[in-house]
Amino acid sequence: MKLLCIGRNYAAHIEELANERPEDPVVFIKPDSSVLPKEQDFYIPDFTSDVHYEVEVLVKIKKVGKHIDHKFAGTYYDEVGLGIDFTARDLQADLKAKGLPWEKAKGFDGAAVIGKWLPKSSFSDMNNMNFSLRLNDELVQQGNTGHMLWKIDELIAYVSQFFMLKKGDILFTGTPAGVGKVAPNDYLTGYLEENEMFSIKVK
Ligand code: ZN
Repeated sequence: MKLLCIGRNYAAHIEELANERPEDPVVFIKPDSSVLPKEQDFYIPDFTSDVHYEVEVLVKIKKVGKHIDHKFAGTYYDEVGLGIDFTARDLQADLKAKGLPWEKAKGFDGAAVIGKWLPKSSFSDMNNMNFSLRLNDELVQQGNTGHMLWKIDELIAYVSQFFMLKKGDILFTGTPAGVGKVAPNDYLTGYLEENEMFSIKVK
């Protein structure tokens, strides 16, 4: 199972990190070992002092596909979720400055939070879903999938040109503005519309 992740998919988040607006979706992969086991706390790794939360809408791929046409992309997933793409921002900045790959900053153990799954059918429009993240009960990130530069089906079509999608793969669709640092004893709660999707503690 692989986690296909999209960077820079919301204009306001591109601005807050002073990144360039990409011509094509920015794609990276997290390994399956980065998935934070259910009910486990998130431990800030020793190699970073600046781990950021990034709340993202997820979809779970349900069948094999490559070179998927945008028109059929919706037939490749039935379940929608919410997660966190934890990022060691200090390490990432260092790697970016050197033009090196981001994997260590994005793919470390526990760096992928995957909340519960809901049927796609429980949402009337995949391109108009509200989601949010609360840090210690305070709203820190709020997004709507309608604000994605590339919508979910476009992302599936795009990534499947390069990577064969397999049953169980998960697409992280990018984070809206409001990313920030976590500290020990923080807790993070994610919502997709009114549904609580995950709640995790930081250690
Ligand atoms: Zn992200």
